[in-house]
Amino acid sequence: MNNHSFDASSSESEHELHDKNGISLSQFQSLIRTMFYEKDQSRGIEGTFMWFMEEVGELSSALRENNNPENLAEEFADVLAWLATMANVAGVDLEQAVNQKYVQGCPRCHQPICTCDLSRKP
Ligand SMILES: [Zn+2]
Repeated sequence: MNNHSFDASSSESEHELHDKNGISLSQFQSLIRTMFYEKDQSRGIEGTFMWFMEEVGELSSALRENNNPENLAEEFADVLAWLATMANVAGVDLEQAVNQKYVQGCPRCHQPICTCDLSRKP
């Protein structure tokens, strides 16, 4: 351990993880893999899915209560982190999956701005 890691203003490790534009979805999934994969793998997909659903429940509460913007943002981050964890355990590349399914437009109507009927799942 070195003193530099306690410098909150600017740490080297922080700069290794992202640049001023933040991180890509792929980099985020990789970061989550580095942080948690060993634990995630031993817990397995069922246990991981339970935690994911718990986080979804917390996001629901934060949205319903609607009184703490900082907490709401954290709950979104938690849900995305657990989704990345599940993707790691299931062997899915999230960025690739998103690119294949959504970058060319709505998966159903194929338009850049969805024109699907409101009553149907897009
Ligand atoms: Zn559509």
